[in-house]
Amino acid sequence: MNALLKIDDIEVNYGDAQALFGVSLELAEGEFTTLLGRNGMGKTTTVGAATGMRGPRAGRITFAGQDVTGLPSYKIARMGIGLVPEQRQVFPNLTVYENLVATAHNRLGSKHPWTLERVYGLFPRLKERASNLGSNLSGGEQQMLAIGRALMTNPRLLILDEATEGLAPLVRAEIWHCLESLRSTGISVLVIDKNIGPLMRLADSHVILEKGRTVWQGSTDSLRANPAMLHETLGV
Ligand code: ATP
Repeated sequence: MNALLKIDDIEVNYGDAQALFGVSLELAEGEFTTLLGRNGMGKTTTVGAATGMRGPRAGRITFAGQDVTGLPSYKIARMGIGLVPEQRQVFPNLTVYENLVATAHNRLGSKHPWTLERVYGLFPRLKERASNLGSNLSGGEQQMLAIGRALMTNPRLLILDEATEGLAPLVRAEIWHCLESLRSTGISVLVIDKNIGPLMRLADSHVILEKGRTVWQGSTDSLRANPAMLHETLGV
């Protein structure tokens, strides 16, 4: 497999406390992959390492064939990784429109770049709320904005940490629908979420973490064929 993102046996610490003890994963260009595991198993820390927020003390991360291990997050973002963070982190004092244009860029020279109109087409609700402040949005609207803002950086890889956490069922469905429609754009997606049903429908492959280690990586079909492992590692 020609991996777009390759994480090779990384270890990550928070001060003296080790959180990751050997996480590996491979994600091919255009692929939709999930990062699964119970609470505290290391999913957010893995995403933090891949996006340059927390450098690994061991192991290697390559993106688009380049070693990005320990690079600062702004450099990794420019190389084409867009993050929708766990807490969404929309700018509360900027309007929806300002949030979208604040970090927009097309440094990769994408032929079909994300524009305001494209983002508004994906999430018409954001167009309706364009002049509202980030702080006045519902949780669902904030998540749409966080996804739209990441897309406006024209990433090759979009990472979503807790894609639908805390959202009402209808809004969740809208987020899943949006991710499904993104597939046809050729973007690669790495998603963390607890809703295994929609993930099994959408994703090509899955990575399961336990206690800071990768314990399994494989296709949706092979995951489906392994209910005992699903139960043991995820309790489902
Ligand atoms: P969740 O689903 O609860 O977000 P997770 O799988 O994303 O869990 P992480 O948040 O990556 O897991 O946490 C992995 C380990 O690192 C846990 O033991 C956690 O307590 C620890 N940890 C996470 N953030 C910090 C921090 N800022 N300081 C110290 N330890 C941390």
